[in-house]
Amino acid sequence: MKKQYYFDHNATTPVRPEVVEAMLPYLTDLYGNSSSVHTFGRVARLAMDESRETVARFLGAEPEEIVFTGCGTESDNIALSGYMASAPEDKNKFITTKVEHSAIMKTGEKLERDGYMATYLGVDSQCRIDLDNLRDVIDGNTALVSIMHANNETGVLQEIEQVAHIAHEAGAVFHTDAVQSVGKIPLNVKEMGIDMLSMSGHKLNAPKGIGVLYVKKGIPVTPLTYGGSHEHGIRPGTENIAGIVALAKAVELAMEGIEKETEKLSALRDRLENGIENAIENVLFNGRGAPRLPGTSNMSFPGVDGEALLFSVDIEGIAASTGSACTTGDVEPSHVLIAMGCDPKTAQGSLRVSMGWGTNVEGVDRIIECLPAIVKRLRAISGSV
Ligand code: PLP
Repeated sequence: MKKQYYFDHNATTPVRPEVVEAMLPYLTDLYGNSSSVHTFGRVARLAMDESRETVARFLGAEPEEIVFTGCGTESDNIALSGYMASAPEDKNKFITTKVEHSAIMKTGEKLERDGYMATYLGVDSQCRIDLDNLRDVIDGNTALVSIMHANNETGVLQEIEQVAHIAHEAGAVFHTDAVQSVGKIPLNVKEMGIDMLSMSGHKLNAPKGIGVLYVKKGIPVTPLTYGGSHEHGIRPGTENIAGIVALAKAVELAMEGIEKETEKLSALRDRLENGIENAIENVLFNGRGAPRLPGTSNMSFPGVDGEALLFSVDIEGIAASTGSACTTGDVEPSHVLIAMGCDPKTAQGSLRVSMGWGTNVEGVDRIIECLPAIVKRLRAISGSV
């Protein structure tokens, strides 16, 4: 087998060895249920409480504002459906964007079927919403504004502090899906005016199966499932202690290394984009003109079939992605690129390269080395060159 290079960190990340080490005891000897009163239970409870404090500190929140969930999708569902169900009766509207992850899009569609009114804000060619558009559509009947921090396909960041300000002025609550940005760029819920925030462990080097919903004190959220009083009753069910401990460790590591990692990933991304630009004609870097996550690059190659491109780079040992992982297998062009004004054929020929912990120059140079010949061959097949 060829040497493999992983460039799909926005889909999921490797679990760091320090994280495995931290969580392992809670899968073996320390298996207590955190609701039990005996020593096993108290040990689990203590680990959970300490982890909650770490996550809260990382987000700039209070421990009691942290709700552990199973994943980012669940956090998004609880935020949107749970808050809309609790909102005052005269507030039946919510606002989001056309470039959200399916966890928000599908929840939005469900809320519309339930009778709520939705507005999906468009974006410009750089994947950014227009704040004046938001000012135009928001009104006193708006209960919730949910706008993602970093886009999972392009890495483009929205001006969420300003969004929060506009939402609050209109008397609405502000939620952000920060699944892609937490751990990659500095973030503070209090300073940024965020009322609810979703995050997911497996995007920041913790395992799959653990997520967080931050809910600011005083924001009412109706639970979507019923059972015990775990997680303030917002997310009942015995907590995943090993996952929670792992998440706290991953968060600690991310906090420690955020500046160095940002510098490293920005340099690698620029090296990749410059290298590709010099070697391949007619390539578009989607969202390059906007503030972006340091390690995400999304490029379109007109005349190239995206799926064939993905398979071809995979044969060369490069694991990348077209669109988001959750829509892979779906031949529809990316809804994000379409919203940015990309024509469907070009959008179909795009590649997302996402970097993270463990990405190095060798891998980047491998992409720069193998991509030109692949693009040339696929363009020849499609008859575009
Ligand atoms: N929101 C965004 C922006 C994402 O990128 C993802 C996953 O790709 C999710 C939500 C869903 O997170 P999870 O995989 O933890 O359910």
